[in-house]
Amino acid sequence: MPDTAALQSLTKAIDALAPEFTTLSDKIWEFAELKFNEVKSSELLVKTLKQNGFSVRQNIAGMKTAFIGEYGCGKPVIAFLGEYDALAGMSQTAGVDRPVATEPGGSGHGCGHNLLGSGSMLAAIALARHLEANGLPGTVRYYGCPGEEGGSGKTFMVRAGAFADVDAALTWHPAPFNGVRSTHNLAVLEYYYRFKGIAAHAANAAHLGRSALDAVELMNVGVNFLREHMPQDCRVHYAITDTGGRAANVVQANAEVLYLVRAPEMSQALALAERVDHVARGAAMMTGTEVEIIFDTAATNLLPNLTLENAIHDNLVSIGPVPFDESDIDFARKIQATFTDEAIKSSIRLYQIKKDVFSNEKIDGSTPLHLGLRDFEGQSHFRAGSTDVGDVSRVTPTAQCWAPAWAIGTNPHTWQVVAQGRSAGAHKAMIHAAKALAATGLDLATSPELLADAKEEWLEKTREQPYVCPIPDYISPAAL
Ligand SMILES: [Zn+2]
Repeated sequence: MPDTAALQSLTKAIDALAPEFTTLSDKIWEFAELKFNEVKSSELLVKTLKQNGFSVRQNIAGMKTAFIGEYGCGKPVIAFLGEYDALAGMSQTAGVDRPVATEPGGSGHGCGHNLLGSGSMLAAIALARHLEANGLPGTVRYYGCPGEEGGSGKTFMVRAGAFADVDAALTWHPAPFNGVRSTHNLAVLEYYYRFKGIAAHAANAAHLGRSALDAVELMNVGVNFLREHMPQDCRVHYAITDTGGRAANVVQANAEVLYLVRAPEMSQALALAERVDHVARGAAMMTGTEVEIIFDTAATNLLPNLTLENAIHDNLVSIGPVPFDESDIDFARKIQATFTDEAIKSSIRLYQIKKDVFSNEKIDGSTPLHLGLRDFEGQSHFRAGSTDVGDVSRVTPTAQCWAPAWAIGTNPHTWQVVAQGRSAGAHKAMIHAAKALAATGLDLATSPELLADAKEEWLEKTREQPYVCPIPDYISPAAL
């Protein structure tokens, strides 16, 4: 933990920069650009880095919206990860408590990445300035990571060696709660199963047809039986991406289904995906069709680093609660009124909230915003999702925190997230996260012991399982 004077000077500097980064976040919210097309968002972020004296490299790993900003020199190299992609079909008006699209069918920041990318950059810039002003060594980097939503931009950056000399990486995510994000999650593999059959008149020549759509249906039935016999905590889900057409009087010659296979470890995900492949081949045999299996993308499960997480937690304790006011709470109450009691309880369970550090009480959702700090018991908990931060955590010690940008009960990828994405409360949460990350970055720059401990923990955990990038070399980001 930085000493009181250093922490105060860092947080004061962040407060002074806050208006600029609030505007930045709001602009990215408005752009709402989808994975790998975050052109305006990345341009604005690059411009901000350059204005703050960072040197910037663009087109990282062949992705036009990926970039790395750097300031300072020497060791340690501290990375802050930023995201800025939106979600399709999530257009929503800001600041209202009902679903109203600003542009029907348009995109929206349903995961709060406008806040994420801007808050991480605020932390990077504040830390870089602080190190320079105090004559401290160290290199601060901001990783502009595109396509987190179904694109695994970071995994491509890892594969290209962009993190090779990084000593530690820090990031955060908007959430309904304030606290360290110590989770182990799921590795994910995504494949398209493309079936090819023979078209025919569905009444007078059906015996000549071979239905690709039947194959998709039989594959889904087969996978539904497979569910009974897969390891606990695995998840398999699908979307039919091509039904073969709308004509029922034609035997469909083409059909395609996209599968996501998730498991606690990548080795389990690979083994399960192989069984899903067998089901697909079985469906093809049954229907007399052919199946092509096309790799889409993948992300490795997270490797929590308790040493770094403890450091973030200590800083969150020192920084204190997010300074929400009555109007922040009022708006959160309106948003919370759109959730069922069960959804609110489920949200508390999902984040494994047991008690609050500041109030020492159990959190029950009776306040619409999290006004305290989630207790951190020094161990990670399971969370059934996936993120490409997982691949970064496999090549360098990585830690994350949550900041309470959303009313308690809010789930990611919902209109409620977009509606809250430019609220005053969300801005405060973003600034809070920037403070926690910058302070932890300062810890890393000034405490070689902390860095050594984090590395030792990381080495210990990775010794057993050397990292293998789950995206094959022949897959390029441009192909996505
Ligand atoms: Zn997200």
